[in-house]
Amino acid sequence: MMSLRCSSRLIRQLNKINLKNCRCYSDSSRINFMKDKLKHGPNLSEFITGSSEPILTERPNIPYLPDSIQDNLKRKVFFDVYGCQMNLNDTDIVWSILKKEGFERTKIEEEADIFLVMTCAIREGAETKIWHRLDHLRGFKRRRALSKYKNRPVKIGLLGCMAERLKEKLIEKEKAVDVVAGPDSYRDLPRLLALTDSGQTAVNVLLSLDETYADVVPVRLNQDSVSAFISIMRGCDNMCTYCIVPFTRGRERSRPIASIVDEVRHLSDQGVKEVTLLGQNVNSYRDLSGQSEKLDTHMAKGFKTVYKNKKGGLRFADLLDKVSAVDPEMRIRFTAAHPKDFPDEVLQVISERDNICKMVHLPAQSGSSAVLERMRRGYSREAYLDLVGHVKAAIPGVGLSTDMICGFCGETEEEFQETMSLMQLVDYNVAFLFPYSMREKTTAYRRYKDDVPEQVKKERHNRMVDLYRRKSQLLNEAEIGHTHLVLVESIVQKTGQILGRNELYIKVLFDQTDILSQDGGKRAVTPGDFVAVRIVGAKSSLLNGVPLYHTSIRDFYRDKSWGERYAVSL
Ligand code: SF4
Repeated sequence: MMSLRCSSRLIRQLNKINLKNCRCYSDSSRINFMKDKLKHGPNLSEFITGSSEPILTERPNIPYLPDSIQDNLKRKVFFDVYGCQMNLNDTDIVWSILKKEGFERTKIEEEADIFLVMTCAIREGAETKIWHRLDHLRGFKRRRALSKYKNRPVKIGLLGCMAERLKEKLIEKEKAVDVVAGPDSYRDLPRLLALTDSGQTAVNVLLSLDETYADVVPVRLNQDSVSAFISIMRGCDNMCTYCIVPFTRGRERSRPIASIVDEVRHLSDQGVKEVTLLGQNVNSYRDLSGQSEKLDTHMAKGFKTVYKNKKGGLRFADLLDKVSAVDPEMRIRFTAAHPKDFPDEVLQVISERDNICKMVHLPAQSGSSAVLERMRRGYSREAYLDLVGHVKAAIPGVGLSTDMICGFCGETEEEFQETMSLMQLVDYNVAFLFPYSMREKTTAYRRYKDDVPEQVKKERHNRMVDLYRRKSQLLNEAEIGHTHLVLVESIVQKTGQILGRNELYIKVLFDQTDILSQDGGKRAVTPGDFVAVRIVGAKSSLLNGVPLYHTSIRDFYRDKSWGERYAVSL
């Protein structure tokens, strides 16, 4: 019989093993594997690489833990989600994995046994919020331990990018959490949670070269939503100097097209009307899982990468083609993108398909070629502006969105003015604007000085926001009198008004009223309906409209090219 000390050391050792790629699907082989590890311990390569074999894709049965503490049934999980849409989708994946293992979900803090915090590390502000939330949860955990419910101890798990970035601090210094799981370790969560019952902190932050969760059908936390997110790829190879993503989410890898198409079909069957294809850099998508022609990746003119040009496999244009064909009445969006990966074949499929939204995300990040060089974005201001012109010509009426950073290392007032002038020139419908926040581990952290004072960053940020608001107000006002196809998302509780979004993802608000439906009668508007709405008023981020009639994507656009349909006015 192994001593307690020895077995807990072994548990820690086993915890280091990446169980993700295990092919031990049967109970007996899994138990044999664990027995073997109990007897001999992990081998050297498992210790060094932390990766190897097995993987528990079924509910973990850990022989050295009593059954009672492996019983996940009825353990209630509370999710806290911070950050980007990828995190929302990752939460759906986590919930799918845990639900299969018998966990339950609660939206009420007091009922929860496990708090899982899905984190973001992109800016310091995002991390600060999460540290505050952890303080609150630790207080909650202490109070539970002193209450009459102390037999239901609270566990806190930290997932996502911050887990990857701050593992040591979280565990050793702060002792803030019971579980730390990085973005590629979610399959391992049931096992990690089981290990915490023996009083240890369970950690798996290994990054993978191939994990895409392709076989996990996410269970949407918000089942009522008419839209859903689908992860099509993970990680990023671009290594922009300011960005933490390649360090927290690892190398770029794409999910096979077949599994994405299956998921789109499944969502369509459930009545979902809009899917957003998600990834750090969706348009560099490459499905290398099957046999296919060795097609080169075409890059937009004037753009380059730090990595070797990818060859073979199915590209983003192929994916858009297949996904948009699943259900012509389902809207397709995608984000985030890199401007370099908008070759003509992608623009063509967007312009040809009625159900692919004519909204292209072209994150410029800066309007100054010198700053872009320091950011290692792989293009100049001129190449970017050429691309904008090309996209506008290929998809008439296209909407554009962007990300911009001000106050990056060494940014002078003149360089910032170039960003302002780019925003003047391009007419972005949507812009995400940020003051620079230096992150450890990035190239900028090692190579540059974060030398723009906070006050200057703040002031430049305010100027960008002002300009963006003024410009988007004008763009939206130009829509007055036009008819937009709006997908209805919800009914505003306070006013009873209807809220939806047009193709460019701008919110459209209108009053509830019975309108002509496609069967010739009249009916009220409900979430999930496509409605033709005449725009009668505009703010910088909201359009007001009058609903005209129920419609469908095909009926609305029938016999009209995109250029014509966008110009339709009553
Ligand atoms: S392309 Fe985007 S996610 Fe990738 S490193 Fe650059 S900024 Fe980060």
